[in-house]
Amino acid sequence: MKLFTIGPVEMFPETLAINAEQLPYFRTPEFSEIMLENEVLFRESICASRNDKVVFLTTSGTGAMEAAVINCFTSNDRLLVINGGSFGERFGEICRIHKLLYDEVHLPFGEKLTRENLEPYYKKGYKGLLVNLHETSTGQLYDIGMLAEFCRENDMYLIVDAIGAYGADEIDFKKYGIDVLIVSSQKALALAPGAAVVVISERIYRDKVTVTESGCLYLDFKQHIDNMERGQTPFTPAVGIFLSLNQRLKQIHNIGMKQMIKEVKELALKFRREAEEKGVKVPEYPLSNALTPIIAEPYAEELYLGLKAEYGLMVTPNGGELRQVLVRIGHLGNVRWEDYEELLEAMCEVKKRL
Ligand SMILES: *Cc1c(COP(=O)(O)O)cnc(C)c1O
Repeated sequence: MKLFTIGPVEMFPETLAINAEQLPYFRTPEFSEIMLENEVLFRESICASRNDKVVFLTTSGTGAMEAAVINCFTSNDRLLVINGGSFGERFGEICRIHKLLYDEVHLPFGEKLTRENLEPYYKKGYKGLLVNLHETSTGQLYDIGMLAEFCRENDMYLIVDAIGAYGADEIDFKKYGIDVLIVSSQKALALAPGAAVVVISERIYRDKVTVTESGCLYLDFKQHIDNMERGQTPFTPAVGIFLSLNQRLKQIHNIGMKQMIKEVKELALKFRREAEEKGVKVPEYPLSNALTPIIAEPYAEELYLGLKAEYGLMVTPNGGELRQVLVRIGHLGNVRWEDYEELLEAMCEVKKRL
């Protein structure tokens, strides 16, 4: 089975080798040192500075999204959520469950997010913007510069779920004044699922995190930040994932994040070009390099099932109302161009038979 999914993705041999080993005990200076190195390398990968806090959570990405919201905001804050698909919807759900006041910028499928969508919310007293930089359910990449400017003008904190964008699209924590950035292990990092990294700006840490009761023991940032002073976590972390994270971050450091993004982008663009030549339709809104959504209406599910059953090729199906509209082809992890040639051919054959 070959994965063209978005997470988990095809892993690198170095990661698989680490995953096969006996795990060490973690309350040791040796493990602390690895975690402190992870902190430095991760900050570097997103252009964050030394004073920004990094926490390592043992949870899938959603747990880190929830942690970001409950550690930074209270019922006195009004929040704005960009809802352009199922991951935006999730931020709304988190606010609802934790009884936080929020409004949604609802973006129908196929529409591009522009400044105009935000105008009705200009200078209306919102405290924070919650956004999935890449709305992975549709593949749309939002304009981080535009969002950052809106937050600056409105004196809002900018909370960025970069789980689908990290390693595929440009992210600059400092330049865009990001306050919280969330990444999880199973996307471009190509690690096992179950761990997440959250970077917290100095200002939101000082002004919000330190004075906010998260109401949660396991995901409390204050505890995590205190423990990270010495390279530790409050509870048993996903030791194996953080060891393989260390290997991946070193690899990314050596290649350079810019170069890594460039390679993913080249693969995505080449795939889109060749796919469109074969008559495959791709949406018009701005796309992340992480994946290519393909319009396969009304047979998306049959296409996905055919590729899996007949060719052992696993693309990413959609749920909900896009179930028969889109399949998504990931460009993350250990994939190369030859894999896509095989996929394109198989796609054409399956489609012919439908
Ligand atoms: C994958 C992803 C998540 C994380 O989902 P989990 O299943 O909880 O790991 C969150 N947001 C975005 C944008 C994603 O792509």
